Amino acid sequence: MTWVNRFRRLAPVGRIVQELVRFDLQLMENPEISGVEYQQGALQGYEVREYLLEKWGRTCAYCGAKHVPLEVEHIQPRSKGGSDRVSNLTIACHSCNQAKGNGDIRDFLSGQPDVLSRLLRQAKSPLNDAAAVNSTRWALFNALKATGVPVTTGTGGQTKFNRLRLNLPKAHWLDAACVGDVESLDIVTSKPLLILAKGHGTRRMCGTNKYGFPTRHRSRKQIHNGFQTGDIVTATVTAGKKIGSYVGRVLCRASGSFDMTTASGRVTGINHKYCQPIHRKDGYAYA
Ligand SMILES: [Zn+2]
Repeated sequence: MTWVNRFRRLAPVGRIVQELVRFDLQLMENPEISGVEYQQGALQGYEVREYLLEKWGRTCAYCGAKHVPLEVEHIQPRSKGGSDRVSNLTIACHSCNQAKGNGDIRDFLSGQPDVLSRLLRQAKSPLNDAAAVNSTRWALFNALKATGVPVTTGTGGQTKFNRLRLNLPKAHWLDAACVGDVESLDIVTSKPLLILAKGHGTRRMCGTNKYGFPTRHRSRKQIHNGFQTGDIVTATVTAGKKIGSYVGRVLCRASGSFDMTTASGRVTGINHKYCQPIHRKDGYAYA
């Protein structure tokens, strides 16, 4: 909401598009019952894929592998009369998918009867509607609507469909541009501004050692020599060991000897008198 409000101050924002849900149950018309068929490459195919990822917990249904590329997999292979219906589909890692091939599920899992029975049971049970939606996203949706700017929504499946259709590489900022009904995009840069929420520090009144025992006093004063930790500054050092020019986020000390986080790493011991502010601390880091 902070950034929505900032952008609205800077430019006339005409509409907001939010990725509200992972997949569109309406588009699939209750996938388990109506027998909607999986079509690779079509928008519906992307919605079905997201649905299956959620239903099977983003893990390989055969070996339980997580954080690996997962493929849509037929439980009963089509060559053995299995259908493209959602109740005959699951999610598997590449090696399990290859190993199973066109074989019968009962042969493939003959050594693991408990995996087989769980898989067949789970295949039949539809995913609870509530699982499609995350309550935080609805809270954000309502807050966006309260701004008065028209808000439309899209699904995660649609975002991915648009990104692949427009031939764009996988990146969060390009995904953001692909949310909702997107016909075409003019990408005018390859360098997005990356904004990272850093918070506003803590209220701790003492520093602690690794056991949590208080070891040093922390000053209530946050502004030292006109700077505070989190300000972005330029420093042109003209004397001493640190001669040179630096730009970055500053860490302030009462002594007036500051540290700076620059694009090329951390620089210590910069005297405050060389520093010029560019951007005052606002709780975000920029890159
Ligand atoms: Zn696997």
